[in-house]
Amino acid sequence: MKTLKFRNSNEEVEVGKLVCVGRNYVKHAEELGNEVPEFPLIFLKPASSLISPEANIIHPEYSTEMHHEVELVLYIGETIKNADDRLAEEAIKGYAVGLDMTLRDVQSNLKKKGHPWTIAKCFDTSAVISEIVEKSEYRLKGDERISLSVNDEEKQNSKLDTMIFSPVNIVKYISTIMTLEKGDLIYTGTPEGVGRVNRGDIISASIENIAEFKINVL
Ligand code: MG
Repeated sequence: MKTLKFRNSNEEVEVGKLVCVGRNYVKHAEELGNEVPEFPLIFLKPASSLISPEANIIHPEYSTEMHHEVELVLYIGETIKNADDRLAEEAIKGYAVGLDMTLRDVQSNLKKKGHPWTIAKCFDTSAVISEIVEKSEYRLKGDERISLSVNDEEKQNSKLDTMIFSPVNIVKYISTIMTLEKGDLIYTGTPEGVGRVNRGDIISASIENIAEFKINVL
């Protein structure tokens, strides 16, 4: 069983499902040659893919192009289905910094064939999460800076208010498709600047006022 860690609480919560949003920043959709979506594009990762920054990201052998994607992660703290704005906001109980590691070469081949992205997105160590900051401690303003460096060289640097779909709209939409439950995590998409990481690299990820961490790629 994998459990989530909270900054100032010893509560242990079992990890549920990881729901990820693709193409949620205009400039990132453009850099990959994708259309800006009308509805959030969602996909899943298994709880088994999740690690904390104390672990290492393991580069799979079947790819030569693993990309970093830094993302705001929403922690869902109660069960919701078909939520309205108020219930969606209330269900978001905390925030974290996450990495949605992606095998871009594998994903591009799958996309061309119209196949699911599973082996490009769901491998072990493909999801990283910081400690969770509960909303009772910090309430997201929405314009916090989100950034990522590889070996101290800045690669991604944007603000959360350049998202296409806001956290509330994402949660509302997902709750029309699947019930969200305590322990579920929502990866809200990455800003522009994604790129390759190699074995031996050190990734630094941060969101202003939420968390920052470093993690190794092996
Ligand atoms: Mg992503």
